[in-house]
Amino acid sequence: MTFRVLVTDSVELSGLHPLVDDPALEVVTVDDSSSQEFFVELARADALIVRSATKVTTDTFDQAPNLAAVGRAGVGIDNVDVAAATERGVAVFNAPGGNTIAAAELTMALLISVARKIPAAEASLRGGGWDRAAFKGVELRGKTMGLIGAGRIGSEVAIRCKAFEMDVIAYDPYLSPTRAQELDIEMVGFEQVIERADFISVHVPLTEETTGIIGRDSLGRMKRSVFVVNASRGGVVDEGALADALHGGVIAGAALDVYELEPLPADSPLRDAPNLVLTPHLGASTAEAQVGVATEVANKIRLLLETGNRADAVNARQLS
Ligand code: NAD
Repeated sequence: MTFRVLVTDSVELSGLHPLVDDPALEVVTVDDSSSQEFFVELARADALIVRSATKVTTDTFDQAPNLAAVGRAGVGIDNVDVAAATERGVAVFNAPGGNTIAAAELTMALLISVARKIPAAEASLRGGGWDRAAFKGVELRGKTMGLIGAGRIGSEVAIRCKAFEMDVIAYDPYLSPTRAQELDIEMVGFEQVIERADFISVHVPLTEETTGIIGRDSLGRMKRSVFVVNASRGGVVDEGALADALHGGVIAGAALDVYELEPLPADSPLRDAPNLVLTPHLGASTAEAQVGVATEVANKIRLLLETGNRADAVNARQLS
């Protein structure tokens, strides 16, 4: 029996070799998930692989009677209605490991970009300027990095901050003391991160607890010289409060890769906030990460289709 795997959202095909090389599987690619062709294929698909663009909803499941699995080539599964999948017995897989380094390296890039004002200096130079005084930055060495969340990505950021001779403190109620010791991270409370850090970087999932964790109140209690970076999930930082804090000089600067609404709306208050570096959700956008997440999710889907093993599904417990 041949299983059909529908792949959309320009998932990196070279990463799908576990599926493509398997004669028991047929891989069909339709990058535009709003096209008629996609819906024709969806009706015949045993598995669907998406990135973040395609919303997998009750409606999707209604049009895919044979679907046994949805794979998200990436970490966040905000675009997949997991409850609806569980209700229909569909396993949902993600690829949490494949883009860790990409996201950690982007975080460091954002940190240095905002601390050294690189995007603004570059724009000024290209506009004909040569203004060295306006772009004086600050160094990382000897400063305190405050991490909120020290899981896969936060840990890798900690390792890189150490290489820059920074002290690292972290608030993560679920981090084991042994792991913190291994990473040479001082575990502290949320308030301490907010009040002590020179740089704050957030690496948490978006949950009820973390929504707006960087808001008006916490921004007001930070050092005025602090730089805040968020390359985790939109909604963790209150965007209106951040824009106000930047306009008011309440903090020195910020850099964001993720937003409450993506793409960022044209009238977002972030667009004209000063001392702010913005990237369009590039955390996982490296050649290596795109291959890595595609392979990770392809292996899980193949295992499910051929053996029924869904132990790695994010909804494994609810399905059993
Ligand atoms: P992870 O699960 O390994 O780590 C998350 C950490 O957050 C865990 O250690 C957890 O204990 C901690 N945490 C949970 N709730 C918390 C709270 N209320 N306060 C403090 N800590 C809390 O996840 P990860 O792989 O490190 O990913 C981190 C975030 O980055 C996720 O939101 C993920 O979706 C996002 N991400 C973004 C991009 C991007 O393109 N920008 C790429 C990859 C991952």
